[in-house]
Amino acid sequence: MPRPCRIDDCPRMALPRRTVCSTHRERIRNWGDPDFTQWTVADDMDVRLLVEQQRVPDGATRLERRLIGVGLSARGMSAAQVAEVVGVDSRTVHRWRASARQTAA
Ligand SMILES: [Zn+2]
Repeated sequence: MPRPCRIDDCPRMALPRRTVCSTHRERIRNWGDPDFTQWTVADDMDVRLLVEQQRVPDGATRLERRLIGVGLSARGMSAAQVAEVVGVDSRTVHRWRASARQTAA
């Protein structure tokens, strides 16, 4: 059953197993859409896969980096290891972990 694209006012249907249409997906990939900020766009499917692969693509949004970082932490990686994979300071990883714990509580 196809679902509509989750972007407000988008008339297109989402791609199979995705929450956005192909156009918005490309825009998210490239950070090109002014409707998006780096903090609010993440693709659930991608994040899960990337955590498994311990990989962060060049076009990853800030939120995706954070979700991947938290995912890797949950798998027992040290903050320093996570920081290296995600490409941030290890202090940032500690901050992500702290706020993820708060959200879960
Ligand atoms: Zn769309």
